[in-house]
Amino acid sequence: MKDIIQEILEKKKLNDIYLIAHYYQRAEVQDVADFVGDSYAMALAARNSRSEIILVAGVDFMAETAAILCPGRTVLSPEPSATCPMANSITAEQIVRYKEEHPDSIIVSYVNTPAAVKAVSDVCCTSSNADRIIRQLPPDKEILFIPDQNLAANVAKKVGRNLDVFPSCCPIHDPVDIEDIKELKKRFPQAQVLVHPECKPAVLELADYVGSTAGILDYVIKSKAMDFIIGTECGIFHPILKACPDKNLILASENLICPNMKSITLEKILNSITEKQTVITVPAEIREKAALALEKMISLAS
Ligand code: SF4
Repeated sequence: MKDIIQEILEKKKLNDIYLIAHYYQRAEVQDVADFVGDSYAMALAARNSRSEIILVAGVDFMAETAAILCPGRTVLSPEPSATCPMANSITAEQIVRYKEEHPDSIIVSYVNTPAAVKAVSDVCCTSSNADRIIRQLPPDKEILFIPDQNLAANVAKKVGRNLDVFPSCCPIHDPVDIEDIKELKKRFPQAQVLVHPECKPAVLELADYVGSTAGILDYVIKSKAMDFIIGTECGIFHPILKACPDKNLILASENLICPNMKSITLEKILNSITEKQTVITVPAEIREKAALALEKMISLAS
């Protein structure tokens, strides 16, 4: 393992490749990255980097987002088949049809969507900024929030506004069960429950804190508590334990492992750096429209 890590670090430096990774990546992948963050922070890191080549250790929509925000630069994916089933559950054609029926509505698209869907959306959001963005939209307009119905329900409650939703959810977070949390609370009564808003509303009701991966990480670091039941993908344990090695983390469900995120390995990263593959491109007409929705998110969130 030491040899491959060394080789990645050397080749990355030699080729001026900026490697960004999501918190759900394997621990060893996070450790070779130049930047680790949630999907919003990754988008900003790609956009603000000066490197000509950006390597994205994350699922396909994350690499597409980097390609949209960094025209003229090369965006690589170490495993282009790493995808997000929730993102793939919605198509641009469905949104176009919806807009024909609701011409005055605003389409708010979670970044977990394909580029073609972003291109027909008015503004993007992530779990860390969705409520902030929706609060700034005209109050008299109908809003369609896509594609995560759980995140939509959470945001609607927070901002006190009805949202039209698309019937989809994350296959990793949605199955987290309230009975599992209640059982864990019996075993660890002192533990705080921290969950991602992609979990079901009933699970969110049991939580001490609901937030994005970056929000959960920040909460644990700042909290005086020592025990936490964590309702998000297990990859978040690595940055938390790096920052707070004494804290006791309990995964809310043993199924909180995203196989697509975990399909990226050090070997694939080394191969991607060596071969400069796989280059992720987005057709210009889609890229330009999708960039407007992403840039609107960045301006409303900052
Ligand atoms: S954790 Fe869920 S939302 Fe995130 S990439 Fe995996 S399937 Fe998609």
